[in-house]
Amino acid sequence: MSNTYKIAILAGDAIGPEIMTQATRVFDVLSKYRDVEFELMEAPFGAHAYFEHGKAFPDETKAICDKADAILKGPVGLSHEESKKIPVEEQAERGAILPLRARYNTYANFRPIFLSKDMAHFSPLKAEVIKDGIDILLIRELVGGLYFGEKERGINADGKRYVKEVLEYNEDQIRQVLIVGFEQARARKKVLHNIHKSNVLMSSVFWNEVLEEVRTDYPDVEVKHLLVDAAATALCLNPGQFDVMVMENMFGDILSDQGGGILGSLGLMPSACMGPEKAYYEPSHGSAPDIAGQNIANPYSMIGSVAMMLDMSFDMKQESEAVWDAMKSVFEAGYSTRDLAGGGDESKMVSTVEFGDMVMEKLAELIKAL
Ligand code: NAD
Repeated sequence: MSNTYKIAILAGDAIGPEIMTQATRVFDVLSKYRDVEFELMEAPFGAHAYFEHGKAFPDETKAICDKADAILKGPVGLSHEESKKIPVEEQAERGAILPLRARYNTYANFRPIFLSKDMAHFSPLKAEVIKDGIDILLIRELVGGLYFGEKERGINADGKRYVKEVLEYNEDQIRQVLIVGFEQARARKKVLHNIHKSNVLMSSVFWNEVLEEVRTDYPDVEVKHLLVDAAATALCLNPGQFDVMVMENMFGDILSDQGGGILGSLGLMPSACMGPEKAYYEPSHGSAPDIAGQNIANPYSMIGSVAMMLDMSFDMKQESEAVWDAMKSVFEAGYSTRDLAGGGDESKMVSTVEFGDMVMEKLAELIKAL
């Protein structure tokens, strides 16, 4: 009997459904040519869920996610102006994404920042800076720190409005994500860049203390420390120095978007959010309302999130590699989506759907040959 995997599909807002439609085609190809089945369970999540159900993360969606083997999530949210139609606590991040992360304790966020050598022309960096392409794995702590701390607003004793947000970590939260960082470094080049701000933040001093304890189990891994501000510069000037990077939640949010910048587009940024029992997979970027409904969004990030799911949740490593290879082959043949226009030839510009068509055709070929 073939394996059947249950996958919750949260298509999301704006470009979410467009890129999700392309990503789920991977499951069709795999179930056609391999001995595997996928049960896709669609559920509302994000701004449209709020408008239709009164909640950004409705109970029925929670129930579907609870019974899924893994969750595939498209980007959620609206433009700054449109978001104002939704109460603050139900807006995409506070109402949907953070509760999803908390529900499954997805503490380790894997964000590959990758451009093959033959895709290097998509990067805004000079060719001599990225001679061999870019290959960084950024690990971001995802369920602690400032984003999850207590929040307070009020009027102080002087009658002035104030706001207070707490940055809190306990040692277990730090240890568990550092272990992921060390394990990944051990499996790759045995160098771990620890990104922090210990010259200012006590939370970083504490983070580094825990790191000293964890590293005793990893004598084979070299640790390099870098302040987060210097890391931002180094990512632009010499990204080749990085292999695995580990950092707390907000630093990772910001530096990983910079990662998308050095690749040439956020559309090249998939991710995996790993918890002890459940994982969810999503593009690192937002819902791109500025280009929604035009069939021009780059579905690489969403299809790449499926590739990560196949590998990390279902141990389908060959199939995962085939998805990456299929996407790379399209770009390496000179085709480009519009977000990558700077590097491509206008006659080879493809739409969201055309990119999906080419990838699925190549994927079928690769899967049949396995
Ligand atoms: P964004 O990431 O949506 O877009 C930034 C820029 O990148 C835009 O120019 C957009 O067109 C481009 N872009 C992003 N993904 C692309 C793709 N796949 N193909 C081509 N171009 C792409 O950031 P934003 O505009 O600041 O945020 C829009 C909404 O998304 C907001 O509501 C925000 O809260 C939300 N958001 C959601 C997530 C998530 O779901 N995990 C993450 C970040 C932001």
